[in-house]
Amino acid sequence: MTGSLTVVGLGPGEPQWLTPAAADALRAATDLVGYGPYLDRAPQTPGQQRHASDNRVEVERARHALALAAEGRRVAVVSGGDPGVFAMAAAVFEALEGGDPAWHRLDIRVEPGITAMLAAASRLGAPLGGDFCAISLSDNLKPWEVIETRLSAALKADFVVALYNPISKARPWQLGRALDIARTIHTPQTPVVFARAVGRPDERIAVADLAQADAGQADMATLVMIGASTTRRVGPYLYTPRSYGIAP
Ligand code: SAH
Repeated sequence: MTGSLTVVGLGPGEPQWLTPAAADALRAATDLVGYGPYLDRAPQTPGQQRHASDNRVEVERARHALALAAEGRRVAVVSGGDPGVFAMAAAVFEALEGGDPAWHRLDIRVEPGITAMLAAASRLGAPLGGDFCAISLSDNLKPWEVIETRLSAALKADFVVALYNPISKARPWQLGRALDIARTIHTPQTPVVFARAVGRPDERIAVADLAQADAGQADMATLVMIGASTTRRVGPYLYTPRSYGIAP
């Protein structure tokens, strides 16, 4: 097999946040595969074919990309942020697992990108300076009970929790429920971050106390972060110290 497939992370939005390695992988591709709006963010390369698809059909899109690579094409599958974080890289390996065994001989690579959580953190200061975890609030691919169990455990363990996919038209109540759970575990003053469209022209960053945090502040392009008990403000910044439970 001479074809190749690279899953490329585009970063959160700002062109300067696309790594040089990711830009090289995009330029080298004969075919770009991805969700339309992400394809629009990839720089134009003459002669390259673009295969736009709907957002909901990740595994189908991954299968199509693998089939193109098996025909000998150099395929780049584009993904927002980092492709390994709730995104296309896992969909590609899922398609590989369920697909033609010959595909195992393809040259498959993953080109990392800046994930939303890290971009958001950089705008605030250092809220991820201690231990943290990331949870997708989307219950499209896992039962809501699993999400609640993981969220409660993470909050009780006092991780800073980054919430991806906090809300959408089809999932309107999940973030409100997640904030209610947090209110039973953390103090009312715990900082909650709403970082929307980080690195894009319509970026908006807000920090609220948990008591006032309103799920209505979030949309599909928002990364929500719930602080740990040590997460605090210093001047206009927000940070979580590296040390925990050790007297200064
Ligand atoms: N692979 C992506 C995440 C895909 S899940 C990454 O690594 O960032 C989609 C979710 O990511 C969105 O619902 C939102 O919570 C978050 N997200 C993606 N881009 C974002 C951005 N520019 N600003 C804030 N949140 C973003």
